[in-house]
Amino acid sequence: MPTSDPDGSATDLLEALAAAVAGRVLTDPASTEAYRRDQCLVADAGRPLAVVRAAGVDDVVAVLRLADEHRVPVVTRGAGSGLAGAANAVDDGLVLDVSGLDALSVDPVARTATVGPGVVNLDLDTAARAHGLFYAPDPGSRAYSSIGGNLATNAGGMCCAKYGVTADHALALTVVLPGGEVVRTGRTTRKDVVGLDLTRLLVGSEGTLGVVVEATVRLLPVPARTATAVLTFRDAAAAVDAVLAIGTVTTPSAVELMDATTVRAVNAMTRMGLDETPTLLVQCDGSDAAAEIAAVAALAQRHGALEVLHSDDEEEGRALMEARRVALTALERQGTVLLDDVCVPVHRLPELLGAIETAARAHGVLVGTFGHAADGNLHPTIVFDPASPGAAEAARACFDAIVDAALALDGTVSGEHGVGVLKAPYVARQVGAAEQALMRRVRAAFDPHGIMNPGRGY
Ligand SMILES: Cc1cc2nc3c(=O)[nH]c(=O)nc-3n(C[C@H](O)[C@H](O)[C@H](O)COP(=O)(O)OP(=O)(O)OC[C@H]3O[C@@H](n4cnc5c(N)ncnc54)[C@H](O)[C@@H]3O)c2cc1C
Repeated sequence: MPTSDPDGSATDLLEALAAAVAGRVLTDPASTEAYRRDQCLVADAGRPLAVVRAAGVDDVVAVLRLADEHRVPVVTRGAGSGLAGAANAVDDGLVLDVSGLDALSVDPVARTATVGPGVVNLDLDTAARAHGLFYAPDPGSRAYSSIGGNLATNAGGMCCAKYGVTADHALALTVVLPGGEVVRTGRTTRKDVVGLDLTRLLVGSEGTLGVVVEATVRLLPVPARTATAVLTFRDAAAAVDAVLAIGTVTTPSAVELMDATTVRAVNAMTRMGLDETPTLLVQCDGSDAAAEIAAVAALAQRHGALEVLHSDDEEEGRALMEARRVALTALERQGTVLLDDVCVPVHRLPELLGAIETAARAHGVLVGTFGHAADGNLHPTIVFDPASPGAAEAARACFDAIVDAALALDGTVSGEHGVGVLKAPYVARQVGAAEQALMRRVRAAFDPHGIMNPGRGY
């Protein structure tokens, strides 16, 4: 029972929950601790009244009905791999864990899959591949992040340059609204222009409008071949020059950038022995992949690449891309990280890279930058030692300077990780008062009592 509950309302809610979702309500702090935060370790997290581990849609309906009646905040939780604190618990609220809703079926004829929100991204892709299909959105966390979380954050990944983000693959959603009403949005048709596109509105809404309990997503035929190139450059600006040139001759399925600091961290962790200089990893897929990657390599050479290595062996390609996949983990081994997620028009990347360097120097911190270069989406990662006096403040000041630089370059404060807690202070600066007020009116139409992830997002 709650320690402080002067009017007994928390006790009433817990009793009602225990009756509605018997056996799936955790209140013991030792059990709820694991549900308090996501992977953004620098964002505030509250202490929940309870965690409900939903086993089905009825549980979600019961939680949203009771929470709405009692005006108690609800934070929906998928795999908790978010990087903006969006799934962090709110004090005295409920955490609704939907990872147990993990039904999965593939319709190979329609080229769709219908999944519960708890299905892990990679499991969906693996199931689709058994039918010669694949699920394109591939966040770096795909081995553990959930489709519900991917939808709620409109997750990106490496393949966005060619295949788009999660929203481009979401066809229809079943959503439980605050109060417990169940609505279905979208169609599984290729086209649909009836009314407002509520599916698109829900994707990326970070658990502020309702809880996704089922999604139908688009699958694509597995490309015939994949080919990969590793290109190194004397500086990051030269690498971006090559990115712009590559975009004029082909659309690679991935164009990933790692700066020298990131490559050094990857070498320290993996002993891969990569040249410690700005590096591009480029992947092309389709029947002409080998020819396309050869064209990319030739172009990179003309744009001053120092080293050019390319291969159309799939296994070798996977091994080469591994360096980028472990970039964040490698930087985390160097200290506490404050990870950013800014995105600018691609042609402005050189200016952003310059601003990141300036900010790092001005604040005396180490920044490793990697990211999805073809999308203009970078993850400058500030590495600091929290035990060192003033280091946390310097890291935060550097983070602010990078966000300011992205906005000044017509960019966005978040390309794919979302607003959550971490980026909430910057929303008004990006969208302005009128647009933010409109967003809030839309939010209130879904959630009149403001129980869904309050204080997060917009
Ligand atoms: C190593 C690493 C690499 C990463 N790489 C990428 C990347 O390449 N691209 C990228 O975009 N992100 C990346 N991420 C961030 C993170 O994995 C994504 O944001 C992911 O989509 C979160 O999914 P999740 O299931 O963990 O969601 P959670 O963290 O549990 O929740 C995220 C948000 O979604 C909401 N939510 C969850 N489920 C539902 C639901 N069913 N209905 C409504 N709202 C819901 C939560 O309330 C919260 O607001 C990475 C994270 C890590 C740790």
